[in-house]
Amino acid sequence: MDRRHWLKSAALGTGAAAMTAFTEAAFGADGRPDTIAEKASRGTPPLRITDVQTFLTAPANIRLVVVKVLTNEPGLYGLGCATFTQRARAVETAVNTFLKPFLIGKDVTRIEDTWQSVFVSSYWRNGPVLGNALSGVDMALWDILGKRAGLPVYQLLGGKCREAVDTYRHAAGKTFQDVEDQVRKFLAEGYRHVRIQCEVPGLSTYGAGGSKGGATGGPQAQDDIPLNRRVDTWEPAPYVRLVPKLFAHIREKIGDEVELLHDIHERVPPILAIQLVKDVEKFRPYFMEDPFSPEDVGYFKTLRPQTSTPLAMGELFNNPNEWVDLVSGRLIDFIRIHVSQVGGLTMAKKVAALCEFFSVRTAWHGPGDVSPVGHACNVHLDLATPNFGIQEAKLFNQAEQDVFPGCPELKDGYYFATDKPGFGIDFDEKLAAKFPIQDDPPFDMRWGTLRRKDGTIVKP
Ligand SMILES: [Mg+2]
Repeated sequence: MDRRHWLKSAALGTGAAAMTAFTEAAFGADGRPDTIAEKASRGTPPLRITDVQTFLTAPANIRLVVVKVLTNEPGLYGLGCATFTQRARAVETAVNTFLKPFLIGKDVTRIEDTWQSVFVSSYWRNGPVLGNALSGVDMALWDILGKRAGLPVYQLLGGKCREAVDTYRHAAGKTFQDVEDQVRKFLAEGYRHVRIQCEVPGLSTYGAGGSKGGATGGPQAQDDIPLNRRVDTWEPAPYVRLVPKLFAHIREKIGDEVELLHDIHERVPPILAIQLVKDVEKFRPYFMEDPFSPEDVGYFKTLRPQTSTPLAMGELFNNPNEWVDLVSGRLIDFIRIHVSQVGGLTMAKKVAALCEFFSVRTAWHGPGDVSPVGHACNVHLDLATPNFGIQEAKLFNQAEQDVFPGCPELKDGYYFATDKPGFGIDFDEKLAAKFPIQDDPPFDMRWGTLRRKDGTIVKP
């Protein structure tokens, strides 16, 4: 009944009870006309969020955070990655204490609206804890949408732009020969792209078997020193002298076919990074990653005119202001965002679209501290993104594959998504509980321990 009919009914002397019921239906209990939002909220959403659960598990000895969103349709739920491995318990609190009560009862199908409202629900925003918490929910809603539609998520994003997702793996070692051997192994397995990292003798070198928590990387053995007081030792100059020689070795021994990548990991002063990126140009890297820290991105304007070496950046980014100018200024070639950190698929697809207009390609962060659910999300996005570049891949161990049935498959260096609805990946909660995260210490303590020989702290 609309206002015109009500007036007609009133004129005809319709009963007082009916008039009251109508007045509340049309104008609300306070008698004032409803807003559009109020009218909409009177209806029962077709599908509502009934619970939000958080799971912490470590089937590969890396703390993973998985969010499960349940609905009022029996058996219909979604999964999302919320992994911020260094602060897993903080993300758990953000989801359980703050997002869950905010989300219960909301319409499952309003993914964008939910993203926008959660984003500002804390007033203060843009950070790895809140970004990952939001991502866990966001990915789960996309997973639910796919399951409801009976379609894989890549179909919801516009469908496949390619049949499979080209990937790269990490070759690392103590010597050039070690690295060469690993590159050959990956080539034999069908990969076309390999990241190369080599230990600088006597220094705890990123990516060359990992930082060592001071156990062997420092000036003396530290096995008897408590974890939180160990020191990793690092000097930038020997590193920037070594890396061009590593590229020269691999090109000389293996040739031009293989695409080579390298991660500087923001570890050197900006001017040394500029020298290094120029020095390796003649070896035609596929990309050089994170030459600067997020605090030093202003240096890209200095670096860009000096070299044609492709540049990749962004795994530490949280805030759109960190990437918009780099992309629109055509100052980088690959965006390396950690999808769960920026709020999940909803934000990542917008980043990809922004990049498309500037011919910047995607290379989403894909290390061990992204859960298999997060890797599946990356793969679905990769399949549907025209300006996809490359995907950092992870080989899932048996425990991960058991806890997360439906992990993306690696064949001949390509990731393949399953064609099941949603992200096509599931989560065995009981089995996950058999791989509890370690809480003592609450993280692996190797971040924030890197120092110059004189004791100065260095970025990781
Ligand atoms: Mg990196």
